[in-house]
Amino acid sequence: MKQGLIFNIQRYSVHDGGGIRTLIFLKGCPLRCPWCSNPESRKKVEPTTWIKNGRTEKIGDWRSVDEILDEVLKDEIFYRTSGGGVTLSGGEVLLQSEFAGECLKELKKLGIHTAIETTGCFPVERLKEITPYIDQVLFDLKIMEQSEAQRIIGIDPERVRENFDYLLKQKQLQVIPRIPLIPGYTTSEANIQRMIEFLTVRQIKEVHLLPFHQYGSSKYDYLGWEYTMRDVETLSQNEISEIQDKFEAVNIAANIDGLE
Ligand code: SF4
Repeated sequence: MKQGLIFNIQRYSVHDGGGIRTLIFLKGCPLRCPWCSNPESRKKVEPTTWIKNGRTEKIGDWRSVDEILDEVLKDEIFYRTSGGGVTLSGGEVLLQSEFAGECLKELKKLGIHTAIETTGCFPVERLKEITPYIDQVLFDLKIMEQSEAQRIIGIDPERVRENFDYLLKQKQLQVIPRIPLIPGYTTSEANIQRMIEFLTVRQIKEVHLLPFHQYGSSKYDYLGWEYTMRDVETLSQNEISEIQDKFEAVNIAANIDGLE
């Protein structure tokens, strides 16, 4: 049976989809967001190491679909009583789309609500393979201007648009845009305005906002990587509310759902 490279499993999460959820984090991401709070997930689908408290630790374990099912079924009762389920996150889930598809298919057979988090940075064919097994997509929107998006995070906004529009046409699933609020990158007036235009044209009525935090900063030390966001301050409640107001002024509910 197909195996996937997993770098974390988080039980009892109340973020990243509705209800109580288990989050499965798939390793590998081709992007390079400077603010990434899971830098250990980046780059290839292969285990990596970091040095934490003087000890070398391996990041990433190959797990079969059955092993994932065994893990998530421990909390089935919580999914059913809370309206929760399982969310595949990353990294970028589409980098292991075949494994993700098998997991999602088995979960659907068991009647468990499924969600994925994605940046939509791969050809739409990868999404087409797994959409029959997804109930909800948490779709990241970050930097909307083409050249900036390519230069800063290495993503093609045209491809993101194509994937987003494909998912919107799949009426059996719910698409929720997720916008990380990153000072100096995504919170500029121009970027927020571009987001709002993108969303209003598509008649989107709800987004999730993920305020920037510094919780991932020590991971860069463990990895021996430069972290350019170390001195960036988190947004104040007022600054977050001002951004929320901009979305809500055009009738888009802007909910805070966890942290980026
Ligand atoms: S897409 Fe997510 S996992 Fe990948 S680099 Fe950006 S923040 Fe990190």
